[in-house]
Amino acid sequence: MRVVFVGPPGAGKGTQSKRLVDYLGIPHLSTGELLRQAIREGTETGLTAKPIMENGQLVPDELVLGVLAERLERGDCDNGCLLDGVPRTIRQAEAIDEIFAGRDQAIDIALELVVPNDELVRRLNARLTEGDEPRSDDLPDTVPFRLSVYRSQTEPLVDYYRQKGTLRQIDGMGTTDEVFDRIRSAIEQVRSHSA
Ligand code: AMP
Repeated sequence: MRVVFVGPPGAGKGTQSKRLVDYLGIPHLSTGELLRQAIREGTETGLTAKPIMENGQLVPDELVLGVLAERLERGDCDNGCLLDGVPRTIRQAEAIDEIFAGRDQAIDIALELVVPNDELVRRLNARLTEGDEPRSDDLPDTVPFRLSVYRSQTEPLVDYYRQKGTLRQIDGMGTTDEVFDRIRSAIEQVRSHSA
């Protein structure tokens, strides 16, 4: 099963993605992680991405699609994968659809985690103080900016996947377990229809 996670920063995508890949037994592909790895390794992609990420902006589509394509080449995604934090633009979504179409595959489900704005701000600010190793883009100044980037560039994906018929909206409020139960039901519904 190929799953895409859409949702604003702070919605819980990272946490829920980890649980979902364990549940489905598929690889977790996070472009944020791949880019942070490129930064640690000091690659050219990493050097270009670093200041952009620190500003809370989106890394250019070409770079993101490059690290994603490279990751997909590892060949462990034939039975499915979970895309976390990608696509973030319509262009990325179209490119990803093309990559999968070339393998006679498609995105089976796009999960949107829905969380009100004031709760997102609260969670992102909490992450600043609670994390052992704060992320360099979790700075108070970038929180509202990252949310506005999400609304303008990434939220249009919700309609994109709605039109494809793959969108499932998940209420992201409540405990981690409650949210995961909703996700699991949505996954099982799609599974039973495609079986
Ligand atoms: P994340 O870990 O998904 O929150 O991503 C952290 C940062 O990496 C984002 O704020 C962007 O700067 C960059 N990034 C990650 N994935 C993408 C993507 N699909 N498109 C553009 N930029 C991305």
